[in-house]
Amino acid sequence: MNSQVGPHYCPPDQTIYIDLDFFGELQARFGARGGDFAEAYVIAHEVAHHVQNVLGISDDVRQLQQEHPDDSNNLSVRIELQADCLAGVWANSIYQRDGVLQPGDIEEGLDAAASVGDDRIQKTIQGRVTPESWTHGSSEQRVDWFTTGYESGDPNLCDTFSADL
Ligand SMILES: [Zn+2]
Repeated sequence: MNSQVGPHYCPPDQTIYIDLDFFGELQARFGARGGDFAEAYVIAHEVAHHVQNVLGISDDVRQLQQEHPDDSNNLSVRIELQADCLAGVWANSIYQRDGVLQPGDIEEGLDAAASVGDDRIQKTIQGRVTPESWTHGSSEQRVDWFTTGYESGDPNLCDTFSADL
């Protein structure tokens, strides 16, 4: 995956950028099943970064990363997993609302979360897994945190910063 063109949230202009080729690449290269809710998960994850920005979490983490460069990747993983958890909270909220979700939607989201795990991406791109260079967390961690948000619907449980990862 070319991370230059991967989906991302840009804090200064509070805008989400998504190259639509990304979804096809996810399926072709990383074995994702795809589906509309796979796309919804990716967008919800980026919206969660906006929430983190508005709440001041992103600024706090950026400052910590400057003060503790050795901890920079670890902090990055934690803020990314929190975004996955908040995406799960959103999925819970639409489930509660009015049956917007179709059978299989959550599985599509979980499958997408797994397909963008650092271990899966590293194995595909570089043929080996180097956890010390992770910035988003493993497939298992991303699925776990999305699930935590989805099952609870409670953003207070998305405290990935004090959790044992
Ligand atoms: Zn992210």
